[in-house]
Amino acid sequence: MLPIVLAIALIGCAREKPAEAAKQATSTALLPTAMDAAGTAADPHPPSFNADRAMQYVREIVAFGPRPIGSSNHKKLENYIVSHLKGDTVEDDAFTADTPEGKFPVRNIVAKFPGSRDGIVVIAGHYDTNYPLRDTGYVGANDGGSSTAVLLELANQLRGKKLEGYSVWLLWTDGEEAVKQWSPTDSLYGSRHLAEKWQKDGTVKQIKAFLLADMIGDADLNVDQDAASTATLESLVYQAATRLGYQSHFFARTISVEDDHLPFVKLGVPCADLIDLDYGYGNVIHHTPQDTLDKLSPKSIEIVGSVILETLRLL
Ligand SMILES: [Zn+2]
Repeated sequence: MLPIVLAIALIGCAREKPAEAAKQATSTALLPTAMDAAGTAADPHPPSFNADRAMQYVREIVAFGPRPIGSSNHKKLENYIVSHLKGDTVEDDAFTADTPEGKFPVRNIVAKFPGSRDGIVVIAGHYDTNYPLRDTGYVGANDGGSSTAVLLELANQLRGKKLEGYSVWLLWTDGEEAVKQWSPTDSLYGSRHLAEKWQKDGTVKQIKAFLLADMIGDADLNVDQDAASTATLESLVYQAATRLGYQSHFFARTISVEDDHLPFVKLGVPCADLIDLDYGYGNVIHHTPQDTLDKLSPKSIEIVGSVILETLRLL
């Protein structure tokens, strides 16, 4: 993923000054939904998200080592994800991506949990790790690991239950990371492919919401408000966070993020990217070999997992 504001500062693009971009992003910030007293009262659905189990998933995922597309570790993780979805309805979207570093197999994995209402909520997160850092020992505990794990635990929460709302499709996206340098064509390989596929087969029309989790394990959790996401859905996420008493971890800052939701935003799907792009002071840990387990907290993964479940209830 790429924060547009920071990217402009980094690559020196002259189209927009960082300060202006930041100002613009802030100006498009939606105001958090005002909550009444009832909204902050004891929640009738206490979260059952198992943070310890989710954290154990992160440990096991990180233990595979670097997991860039095309690697044997990546293949191990594919098998690991699918092995945790036994008995679930799983759909593969596998294809060959043409990248600046050559052709790579890319595989999006979807687990489908049927609901009672017409419509689908997609909950997504990427499982590949940064390609350019593949030989540095980079394990992407937060960037790749946390999103994979939160979805695995959400599967545990959804499995075997009669869902009263929309069907929920968990989507492990692949090829999110750029192989050379982030650009519209070198990034988001999996989500771009799937958005096109789902547009062609009519699935896109059924998607009521697309919730994305990325880099949500940081012990110092500050989920950013994303100006590229859909304001009404972001507002619902904030409402869910407030109902659980977690609002202090949400939306202190607004930025505009390029992430796996973008191909779906472009197709008019309501999207919300839950991402904490303040990973270490000034985001210094992001995309460095220091993205390791010791920076994470199970509580952070629990907060985001529970807020996603609460958002499902509000949808
Ligand atoms: Zn990344």
